[in-house]
Amino acid sequence: MKLVFATHNKNKLKEVRALMPSYIELLSLEDIDCHDDIAETAETIEGNAAIKANFVRDHYGYNCFADDTGLEITALNGEPGVYSARYAGEERSSEANMKKVLEKLADTEDRSARFKTVFALTINEVDTLFEGICDGKITEEPRGEEGFGYDPIFQPKGSDKTFAEMTLAEKGKIGHRGKALRYLVEYLKNSERWVVSSE
Ligand code: IMP
Repeated sequence: MKLVFATHNKNKLKEVRALMPSYIELLSLEDIDCHDDIAETAETIEGNAAIKANFVRDHYGYNCFADDTGLEITALNGEPGVYSARYAGEERSSEANMKKVLEKLADTEDRSARFKTVFALTINEVDTLFEGICDGKITEEPRGEEGFGYDPIFQPKGSDKTFAEMTLAEKGKIGHRGKALRYLVEYLKNSERWVVSSE
């Protein structure tokens, strides 16, 4: 059975592909010829994930899942949160976003933060949400070349590396997206509907 991951973000696709079991045939938006820029107009991470998954279900007719992710910084009352992509402006620049975070945290002792990913899955007309959280802290300066977004300034708890200093496998093991995806995969494994429809 085919399952679409509704993202135009090649890095997210790479992370999810690496963790998806081979019995699930994962399709990207490009694979289904979807080039729409799906507007993320909700005020919550959960809402935006659902908008993306439901858009693909409604317009393309596929079972689908989508993620939305936010970086929540304690000293900034949970900012940038649902506004993580456009924190420093509409151009959605990762460099500008990281610069803004580092400037806002200058002279701040509490650098604790967390990443939160929510996957919205819509399969055979049943909608389910899966959450993955990764606690950590914001570094003093960017480190590492891997990953994307805020990865160079986020150091997960228990590690001395930022996400951008990790391999895909290392980030997948402890990261927010990997955690949420493992819940989703477990759900699919145990889902009677999934088993019936995949035969
Ligand atoms: P969205 O889920 O694509 O809306 O992502 C919101 C913002 O968070 C964007 O600026 C992304 O680059 C960033 N982001 C999403 N996931 C990650 C991640 O795993 N690491 C670092 N930044 C991320």
